Amino acid sequence: MNRTEIYLDHAATTPVDPRVLEAMLPYFTEQFGNPSSIYAAGRQARAAIDQARARIARILHCQPREIVFTSGGTESDNLAIKGVAWWHRLNGRGNHIITTAFEHHAVLHSVQYLEKFGFEATYVRPGPDGIVRVEDIEAAIRPDTILISVMYANNEIGTIQPIAEIGKLAHRYGILFHTDAVQAAGTLPLDVERLHVDLLSLSAHKFYAPKGVGLLYVRQGTKLLWQQNGGSQESNRRAGTENVPGIVGMATALELAYAEREERNAHLLALRDRLIDGILQRIPDARLNGDREQRLPNNVNVSFEGVDGETILLNLDMHGIAASSGSACTTGSTEPSHVLLAIGLTPEQARSSIRLTLGKDNTEQEIDRTLNVLEETVTRLRRLASAQARAR
Ligand SMILES: *Cc1c(COP(=O)(O)O)cnc(C)c1O
Repeated sequence: MNRTEIYLDHAATTPVDPRVLEAMLPYFTEQFGNPSSIYAAGRQARAAIDQARARIARILHCQPREIVFTSGGTESDNLAIKGVAWWHRLNGRGNHIITTAFEHHAVLHSVQYLEKFGFEATYVRPGPDGIVRVEDIEAAIRPDTILISVMYANNEIGTIQPIAEIGKLAHRYGILFHTDAVQAAGTLPLDVERLHVDLLSLSAHKFYAPKGVGLLYVRQGTKLLWQQNGGSQESNRRAGTENVPGIVGMATALELAYAEREERNAHLLALRDRLIDGILQRIPDARLNGDREQRLPNNVNVSFEGVDGETILLNLDMHGIAASSGSACTTGSTEPSHVLLAIGLTPEQARSSIRLTLGKDNTEQEIDRTLNVLEETVTRLRRLASAQARAR
């Protein structure tokens, strides 16, 4: 097995920052207490969680008690959507949910699950640029709409959605608004007041903290039926012994990301544009998927006409370069990406696409090496395909 030397899949996951690991380590060993225990070791763990909650609240501009720690982005999305839906069912208050056709599966499959129980849903399509129109959301609103869920930035094509405008719209109609901000965290502002959100999901492993920990911001007064039953952790909202090291790591990583945000974004933007320009200039019949400007500073998603994306990825891997074909959760399936289909690509075009997502530690040299390998690979695969076509 060869080694990954150039990691370009930061939308799938990120390595833990050594500073984050260092902050976590004591909570695995000396300070291992259960935060629900009343003796000193337990109280120390409780204090660590309280501090982490306060540190995160400063970045989200919310009250610490509005943060519920979870096991990650998937759980937060499930909790937001099912929690709101079941509370409204229990109280006989409406039945309709609006989301978009290109959400992460944690949102899409949660809404589809609710449809099995008689909830109704509208899946608004984004434009060909990968951006949802506020008017299209408004046109989908019904008197019985209880929730709108629109992602902050798309995980496959990196396009940034008009969250604040959609939030204002939702509130004008008295509808709750959730955003999956998992991909936005670290690069975009997370001020919940400015975003006009009631619910916001984050996942630590997308911003240099470990996997298996995340949070749901829940605006004070938001009605939802809590989904995880058991002990009284998280003020009776999410039962289960807290992931103390994970929570400490997440707070540390979020603080680092926002303290270093300007430098990180400038670095990512320069690398991203070098990669996009290099691909479009050097490789014919390549197209960038998703709007060029309204996109995350670390996302490149491109289609190479007539070439299979999975084959490109295998070739990149042989050169020690890690990238992906859209969402990690669908790798291995031959279904074309629902995101690329939603923005109007044909199944053929969708299958010829790859996603390269950059991180704070990538270098210009790595981008240049990737460009060389990519150009060589696509040229070779196309030559091979046309030789095979001639032979038939
Ligand atoms: C990664 C991701 C998730 C899932 O988060 P996990 O912590 O891996 O469960 C949800 N939404 C988006 C947009 C993501 O990129």
